[in-house]
Amino acid sequence: MDVAHHLPPQSDYKVQHELGGARFIVSAEGCRITDGEGVTMLDGMAGLWCVNIGYGRKELAEAAYDQMLELPFYNTFFKTATPPPVRLAAKIAEKMAIGNPDLTHVFFNNSGSEANDTIFRLVRYYWDLKGESKRKIFISRKNAYHGSTVASASLGGMTFMHEQGGLPIPGVEHVDQPYQFGEGFDETPEAFATRVANTIEERILAVGPENVAAFIGEPVQGAGGVIIPPNTYWPQVEAICRKYGILLVCDEVICGFGRLGHWFGHQYFGIKPDLITMAKGMSSGYLPISAVGVSRHIVDLMVEKGGEFAHGFTYSGHPTCAAVALANIEILESEGLVGRTKTVTGPYFANALKRLSDHPLVGEVRSLGLIGAIEIVSRKGTNQRFGGAEGTAGPIVRDLCIEGGLMVRAIRDSIVMCPPLTISEAEIDELVSIIEKALNAAD
Ligand code: PLP
Repeated sequence: MDVAHHLPPQSDYKVQHELGGARFIVSAEGCRITDGEGVTMLDGMAGLWCVNIGYGRKELAEAAYDQMLELPFYNTFFKTATPPPVRLAAKIAEKMAIGNPDLTHVFFNNSGSEANDTIFRLVRYYWDLKGESKRKIFISRKNAYHGSTVASASLGGMTFMHEQGGLPIPGVEHVDQPYQFGEGFDETPEAFATRVANTIEERILAVGPENVAAFIGEPVQGAGGVIIPPNTYWPQVEAICRKYGILLVCDEVICGFGRLGHWFGHQYFGIKPDLITMAKGMSSGYLPISAVGVSRHIVDLMVEKGGEFAHGFTYSGHPTCAAVALANIEILESEGLVGRTKTVTGPYFANALKRLSDHPLVGEVRSLGLIGAIEIVSRKGTNQRFGGAEGTAGPIVRDLCIEGGLMVRAIRDSIVMCPPLTISEAEIDELVSIIEKALNAAD
């Protein structure tokens, strides 16, 4: 049936047909997933960077059940509201205020892609209202991932996505990514950060500051290969945005809800974005929901000027999804999972990964909170990959990990990891041991 009727996303349909269909994952509990053959694996990817509280949480199922019986759906258009999204907006505002008290409001969508589409429209709407309609250009980074819709894929910097369908749409400029292992191997972190941040300023000056609307970036680039910038990078980016009056947008779709040991990733880097997007960990993937966090100064202008912001979705602020997201945040709070990531499991994970640094195939291990990557190299002490720029070893090691009982992803020649925030120290050791065995088998 999978092959006969199902077109999965981001897939090679020839491969799908050759394989005779996908591997079915049929159940899960805690940090473990089980396939249709009854094989259980540690989930090193939290689903798709999202199941922050782990699997099998009855509280979320009950929240959905109760809300569906009370009021499964009603829209938030046309001057109506329902209680769950309003409560959720207030709860998110409380978490955003930790880093930036100016982030006061929330606009709901259903996916990370839609949240970034909302950015595209909201930012341009803001500049129109402000009387600076020329400000239309978004600056983003090469290799960024902001989603799969036309606008969000254009904001993203994945060239293989751009090649299909003539993207990016006009008005998006891509500058260098802060990928030190790949593109600044011989530089100090500070010099590299400055050089890469300066590409933003150079591009602003090239296109004319009066034409630039916003800069968007993930605090840590996830799908690009877990690219953790040097600590000095983001403050420099923020300063450049302020210098030219450009809005700063952080895509928190992966970094939000505890992944880096803070409620939002930008809080780790100590910057104050004007807008943020969030999804994934917001409901731990139990139901689809996303949001844009909006600063008061943007809201104030929209309130002052009036007129309709002609944008939104039937399911913006879906009450059942919002009730589930609230239950998810309650668990993150009551189990202290954000603080635990910062002070216990994040450092434990970093330490455990260090064990792999000496492996002859490993060029670098890096992590922040509970997200990390291992770079596989063909020659120790360099950043050279097997078989050219993209590398050929990543998929081999990934498959060996999966065989060994750990679900991880390969991006280029790196193995990326993003386990549930509920992962135990013993499970972190298990995760690292499986990768070590896979590296040994591949060597
Ligand atoms: N932004 C980032 C940083 C992401 O990692 C993703 C998805 O992986 C998205 C946006 C798009 O989210 P979605 O797949 O929910 O549309």
